[in-house]
Amino acid sequence: MKKYTSLTEIQGKLAQKQLTLNELLAYYLDQIDKHQHLNAFNEVFFSSARKQAEVVQAKLDRGQAGKLAGMVIGIKDNICYQDHIVTASSKMLESFVAPYSSTVVKRLLAEDAIIIGRLNCDEFAMGGSNETSYFGTVKNAADEERVAGGSSGGSAVAVQADMCLAALGTDTGGSVRQPAAFCGNIGFKPTYGRISRYGVIAYASSFDQVGTLTSSVSDAALLLEVLAGADENDSTVASIPVPSYTTSLTTSSGKKKIAVLRETVESEALDQETKNEILKAIEKIKADGHDVVEVSFDLLDYLVPTYYILTTAEASSNLSRYDGVHYGYRNTQAQSLNQLYKSSRAEGFGEEVKRRIMLGTFVLSAGYYDAYYQKAQKVRRLIREKVVALLQDCDVLISPVAPTPAFKIGENVQDPLVMYMADIYTVLASLAGIPAVALPLGNNQQGLPLSIQLMAKHFDEETLLSLSHSFLEKA
Ligand code: GLN
Repeated sequence: MKKYTSLTEIQGKLAQKQLTLNELLAYYLDQIDKHQHLNAFNEVFFSSARKQAEVVQAKLDRGQAGKLAGMVIGIKDNICYQDHIVTASSKMLESFVAPYSSTVVKRLLAEDAIIIGRLNCDEFAMGGSNETSYFGTVKNAADEERVAGGSSGGSAVAVQADMCLAALGTDTGGSVRQPAAFCGNIGFKPTYGRISRYGVIAYASSFDQVGTLTSSVSDAALLLEVLAGADENDSTVASIPVPSYTTSLTTSSGKKKIAVLRETVESEALDQETKNEILKAIEKIKADGHDVVEVSFDLLDYLVPTYYILTTAEASSNLSRYDGVHYGYRNTQAQSLNQLYKSSRAEGFGEEVKRRIMLGTFVLSAGYYDAYYQKAQKVRRLIREKVVALLQDCDVLISPVAPTPAFKIGENVQDPLVMYMADIYTVLASLAGIPAVALPLGNNQQGLPLSIQLMAKHFDEETLLSLSHSFLEKA
C-alpha cells in the first residue's frame, strides 16, 4: 500500500470500495511492527482500534459515517482515553488507567476516527528531544542517530514513518511544532483556548494546547474543525464559533501582509542552511503576490527565561498531585507519611521533571515570588502586547522553528540550558497565546528535514491554514 498523505485520498478509496478499514488498519499495524525500533509507540491499541474499524466500516457501508471515517490517528501519551493506560511517559503513571476520555478523544471518536495507540513523549511533556521519556528515546526516521524532537516526538515519528495518518500532540512551548520540524511534517498549534484541555495531563495550564501532526494542511484543518470549540468541562476554551476551516482553505486565500521577525532569522545561533531555505521560502511567498516586510522584535532575549520561570512554576503546582497517595507510583516500604511522599516522588519522577519542580517551587517561594514569578508575568504581558501590536499591522509573522535541524541523540542532554535555549523561536507563540504552524521546507544536504514557522492573530487559524495550504501546494 502506498503512503497516504491526506484523509481525502483515503476517503476516495473507501467510497470506491477499493479499500476497507480493515485493510487500512492492517497496513498501519504492519508499519508499526516494521518500525518498532524507532520507539514511537508506548502502546498499540489493537483491540479497541479493530473494534472501532468494524463499527466505522458498518457505518460507511450504510452511508452514515462521520467526518473522520478513515482517519487512523495516534495520540500523545498524555491524553486520556477511557479504560486505556495513560502514562505521560513517566514511571509515576506507568500503570494508570484513564477513568474517562478527554474531550479531544471523544470528539475524534464521535466523528469515527480510529485511535491506533499512544505515542511516546518527553516525561510530562517536559523536553525538546524525547530523551526524558521513562520509556526511552524516540529515533528520527530520517537518521536514527538523531532525536525526533520533543516533547511530542513519538507523534512526529509515527506520522513521518507512516505508522498512522495523523497524530495529536500537545504544545506548551513548541512540543508539536519542533518535532514536526525535525521529522518533516506539519505541526499545528492553535490559539490558547481554541481546543479543550479536559482530560489532557497538565504541564503548564496557561500555555498547554492540543495540536496536530499531519502530512497535509487539509488534515490539520479538518482535525481542528472537529476538535475546536466550547466545552463545558474546560472554562478556558473560547466560545467563539468554529469556522469551517476546510472550506476556508481555499476561500480565504488572497493577498496577505507578512512580517519576518528580523532578530530571529538574523540570530547567530541559526543554522546556515535553515536560514537559506527560510529566505528562499520568503522569496516564494513574495512571488505568490503577498506583501512581505521585515519587522524588529527586540524582546527575543527575554522569551526563554520568561517561559521557563512561568512554566516551571505552573508545573510545580500541577505535579503536586503525584504523591503516591492521590495519584501515581507509591513506594511501599515507607515508614511514615512524609517518607511515603518523599520516596514516591523521588523514585517516580525523572531528573528533568524534578529539576523543573524545584525551579518552579523556587520561583514561587515567598522570598523570590516578586523577583521571579511576578516579574515574569509582567514580561509575558509585555511580550503579548508587542506581538498583538505587530499583528495589528500584518496578518502573519515568520520565524524559524528551531535553530538547528534534528541533533544527535545524547548531544544536548547533559546541558539543560542548551536544550532550553533551543526553544527560543517556538515559545513566542506560546507566551502570546497565538496560533502557529511549522511547515516543512524539504531536507538539507544530510537529508534532515528543515522547517519554517508562521504565526497569526489570536483565533485567526483560517489565515494560517489557507496560507500554509497555498504555500505547500505550490512547493
Ligand atoms: N521544549 C519545551 C519545554 O521543554 C516545550 C515543551 C512542550 O511544549 N511541552 O518546555
